[in-house]
Formats: sequence, structure tokens, C-alpha cells
Amino acid sequence: MSLPGQLTPSPRLLLGPGPSDAHPRVLTAMTTPLLGHLDPQFLQIMTETQEMLRQVFRTKNRLTFPVSATGTAGMETCLVNLIEHGDKAVVCTMGYFGNRLVEIAGRAGADVTVMQQTWGQVFDINQIREKLKEVRPKVLAIVHAETSTGAWQPIEQLGKLCHEFGTLLVVDCVTSLGCTQLEVDAWELDAVFSCSQKGLGCPPGLAPVTFSERAIAALKGRKTKVQSWYLDMSLIESYWGGDRAYHHTAPISMVYAIREGLRIVLEEGLEARWDRHLKNHKALKAGLLALGLKYTAAEGHQLPQLNAVRIPDGLDDAAGRKLLLNEFGIEIGGGLGDLKGKAWRIGLMGYNSKPSSVMLVLAALEQVLTKMGAKVEPGAGVAAASKVYVSG
Ligand SMILES: *Cc1c(COP(=O)(O)O)cnc(C)c1O
Repeated sequence: MSLPGQLTPSPRLLLGPGPSDAHPRVLTAMTTPLLGHLDPQFLQIMTETQEMLRQVFRTKNRLTFPVSATGTAGMETCLVNLIEHGDKAVVCTMGYFGNRLVEIAGRAGADVTVMQQTWGQVFDINQIREKLKEVRPKVLAIVHAETSTGAWQPIEQLGKLCHEFGTLLVVDCVTSLGCTQLEVDAWELDAVFSCSQKGLGCPPGLAPVTFSERAIAALKGRKTKVQSWYLDMSLIESYWGGDRAYHHTAPISMVYAIREGLRIVLEEGLEARWDRHLKNHKALKAGLLALGLKYTAAEGHQLPQLNAVRIPDGLDDAAGRKLLLNEFGIEIGGGLGDLKGKAWRIGLMGYNSKPSSVMLVLAALEQVLTKMGAKVEPGAGVAAASKVYVSG
């Protein structure tokens, strides 16, 4: 067998649901020579990373660190640590990732009550109150930014509500951290997980998590061992917590990456970053609407960082995405679950949330739609977005 050639991937603009492009400074940080995972200099880097992660999560939670795996491992970490066999859990699902929460909570042994919302809609807090009253679960789990539909679930009041019923609130912030407002302490969230490759502008590979004191008390009160050894917080804590004792070999280069990613987020400032995501979303939305595309998420609950639109009737999903990729080097996402073949998902996350991404994807989409036979007014998308940037 001849050896494969040198690695030379084509240039891409990653405007799908993740990974999004890593910031060039992050990629540079990753080429830094390795340290040992117990080297005093690396321990210092861990401390700095945790401190910055707390700031980005807006929390003082001491149990805050990146799990060595992708966002789904963050989800699994939160659920397997808080749930013991037979515990009651209410899981709210309004899309593909809510369904994943249901699946993992069930496998963790929970007696799961599923609350189902139409894809593209969000939950009303009163619906949730009724369910909490009826079930009185140990855990309620919900997705903040449902990447499969582009819906933005309000959660500001949810922590307080859960605590009235003695329930712990687990929130999937995989697509919200670094893109839209997230206030772990002020919103009383108990266990929150995210990822490195969406809003933080890093490659995939780490899942930041944070646990409140209430969640820690629940860990301490467990009667049985966590069924996953690798994700058992009480064991990982010996490394990321005080003792810095060996648990597993930290993925050194990924920790370098997230440290740089977090530095970039804090240099920009969280409010400025949330504003930037909103502004670029407004321009993209104006352009997409001008191209005749309609959002899948309800008006007023559309995520700035994930714009999911219905594919016009009669157009082929895969063919459209192939044209974008081959002719423009742009990747966007197709639909998941109920929206498979029916939606395109355009991400403007972290480093990629910028006017150049917006203008390019609109110009490219116009050509793709026209080639596929849709009626599009020439230049309409780009003009509408431009107007938003120029006149606000
Ligand atoms: C991407 C995503 C996940 C899964 O993260 P991975 O890094 O792919 O494991 C979970 N929840 C939501 C809302 C996501 O968008």
C-alpha cells in the first residue's frame, strides 16, 4: 500500500452547526510544545483556564473545568453524576439534542418524564411549573440553544422555579456559551455543560462543565457510585480540584487551545461578544428573508448563532450543500431528525460571526438557489444585509 499524501485539506469556511473555524491564535497556541500533565507550569495553566472559564460562565462555582471529550460527554457528565437509579427526572425536548438528553437520562437509570414541544417552538415556564408540581423530580434538564431547530429557550427564571420544588436544573449550553447571554449564578443553574468548537472558537475536544453548590451537595449525598468511572466528578475533581492527582492524561494541546480561546473571549468582553453575534444575525436574517427563505424557529426565539431555514419546496438539500462546498468552500448544516432534508442550518459562531461570513454566504446562496431553479431577485440578499450594516 502506498502512503497517503501529506495532509492538505481545502480551505473551508465552517458555517454549519459546529465545528466552526478556530481562531488563528488558538491554532497557534496548539502548536506550543507539550508539558507533562502534572508539570507545575501546566498546573498553573489549568488554574488560569478554570478561572477564565468561571468568568465566561458568569459563576463562582469552584467545580468548573473542561471535561476531556466533546459536548456530549459534558451532557453525560452532568446526568450520570446527578442521577441515581430510579431518580425522577423531567426532560424538556423541542429538538434533536433534547432527545439526546432523554436518551442519556434514561440510560443513567432515571425514571424520565418527557415534556415534548413542537420543533422550532420553546417551552413556556408555566407549562414547566405544572409538570414540576406534578412530578417533583430530582432533576430537570433542558436545552438553552437547540441547534437542530435554531430555537432560543428562555431560562432566566427557570432555576428559581426548579429550586421552589427542590429540583436541580441541568442546562445544555453547548451552542450558547460564548455566543449569547449566559448567567450561571444569576439564573441559578445547577449543572451546565458546553463545548469548545462552537462559540469558543476552538477545535472540538473539550466540554466545559460547572456545578453549583446544590449540585455538589447532591453528589455528596449519592448512595451509589457513579456508573461511569471516567466521568465521575468525585474522581476527576482530584485532578481539576485541589489535589492535582492523576486521573487521566489531560489533552494538553486542547487545554492550550481553550485557554487561548477564553483569553480571546474575555479580551473582547462578553457583552460586546453577545452584541456582535446579534448584529451579524440581524444582517444575515435580513438577507435570508430577502432570498425568500423562512426560519424554522418561532419569531422572537431565533438564535443569533444558528440560523435554521426551510429549504424551498422541490429543492434538494444535499445538492445545494454540495454546490456551496465545492464552488465556494462554505460548509453549512443540513436538517436533523424531523427536519432532515427540510432545513439548512447556518452557524455564525464565535470567530465566524463577522460581516465577511454573512456577505459571502448570502452571495453564494443566491447563486446556488438560482442554479437549482429557485426564483431569486439578483443581489437581494446581499443588499438587504448590507442595508442592516450600513444603517443599523
Ligand atoms: C453540538 C451539540 C451537542 C453535542 O456536542 P458534541 O461536541 O457534538 O458532542 C449537544 N447539544 C447541543 C445543543 C449541541 O448543539
